Amino acid sequence: MSWMDKFDPKLQTMVKEVDAQIAPQLAKIDARILENQNKVLTSFQNHHVAESYLTGSTGYGHNDEGRDVLEAIYADVLGGEDALVRPQFVSGTHAIGVALLGLVRPGDDIVYITGKPYDTLQEVLGLAGNGIGAPQEYGIGVDYVDLLPNGAVDDDAVKARLNDKTKVVAIQRSRGYATRDSFTVDQIAAMIKVVRSVLPNVWIFVDNAYGEVSETKEPLEVGADVMAGSLFKNAGGGMAKTGGYIVGKKDLIDRISYRFTVPGLGGAEGATVGALADMYQGFFISPQTTGNAIKGAIFEAALFAKLGLDVSPAWDAPRTDLIQTVNFGNADDMVKFAKAVQANSPVDSFVTPIPEKMAGYEDQVIMAGGTFVAGSTIEFSGDGPLRPPYTLYLQGGLTYAHIKLATMGAAQSTFFDN
Ligand SMILES: *Cc1c(COP(=O)(O)O)cnc(C)c1O
Repeated sequence: MSWMDKFDPKLQTMVKEVDAQIAPQLAKIDARILENQNKVLTSFQNHHVAESYLTGSTGYGHNDEGRDVLEAIYADVLGGEDALVRPQFVSGTHAIGVALLGLVRPGDDIVYITGKPYDTLQEVLGLAGNGIGAPQEYGIGVDYVDLLPNGAVDDDAVKARLNDKTKVVAIQRSRGYATRDSFTVDQIAAMIKVVRSVLPNVWIFVDNAYGEVSETKEPLEVGADVMAGSLFKNAGGGMAKTGGYIVGKKDLIDRISYRFTVPGLGGAEGATVGALADMYQGFFISPQTTGNAIKGAIFEAALFAKLGLDVSPAWDAPRTDLIQTVNFGNADDMVKFAKAVQANSPVDSFVTPIPEKMAGYEDQVIMAGGTFVAGSTIEFSGDGPLRPPYTLYLQGGLTYAHIKLATMGAAQSTFFDN
């Protein structure tokens, strides 16, 4: 018995064809893994990471050298001068919110140039929800410039929208729950040029969720000032149990640190209570984990296209993040497939996910993924709001072999078992 034998012979043949087809793409991702692994390893060595750094602090967390060095390593690898990498960030949404709101003052505007921000950020920014505690209550304006119908940034509208009140221009790298393509680092570089042609000194923020170590350069290396993301995604490497990060220019990280805690304390306090070992190990393996997830996404794209589904990105398109979307066109198929994703997970494989209204999201959402870290999306998972065109967002997977087995398993139960 081979592992292949549990799958329909037609599916086996398709997968053999897919394997041959995508081999050159996978080799390209392997080359990126090596490049990023070298960056991370070199930084660990340069900073003399010691076993004692992994223990973490308690109480106020003064003189937590392990925490400070991990932040220096994040800054090195992700192209910043300083960073906040903390277990006190409850999620990427929290880190992104702290970064944006830490930069602005009453009378300032935050302007997103990549369309409406990610669902969970909409309430943070007062674009959805009841507005209690939103930036508008503090006299801070939040606005966004819609993308063009082809998913590109509307340069003319951006130039027209920016003015003296614009304090922060925000760019969202990954597509989130939108149907557009994710933006590559080169595309972000082009956006930054447009913004700087109008406002040379405006602060440029990038929501980098799902993007870290996906390419071999980061938005900070092409002119962004600050970026932030989640440790349940790429940067946590599947090991971090909680947290988020913010990285960028030193003076801006200082400014943001006063909103992270309180003025005066900033980043000088904050115990790491046992979290550092996973955070170090997770960041160390993040190039490999992220690369595996991207390779898995390429496999999914190729296989589902062969099965006649509408996928994005295509298997041979540029990759700047983990996300692979599959359009189902109707809620039933989408839910059926999500259930199969859950059934092919290592944890809670016997549980059935159901669509539900969730805090921070406007529509009913289905979330499938039996993960070691609750809700983690660097682990194999599929989710999406139940709204047309009923797109499931697939991402993550700790090993390429698991993504392949699980994708085939989900394809088998959705399209071959009848
Ligand atoms: C996941 C995500 C976030 C938020 O991260 P969480 O850890 O889930 O809060 C923000 N922006 C984008 C584009 C994301 O994909």
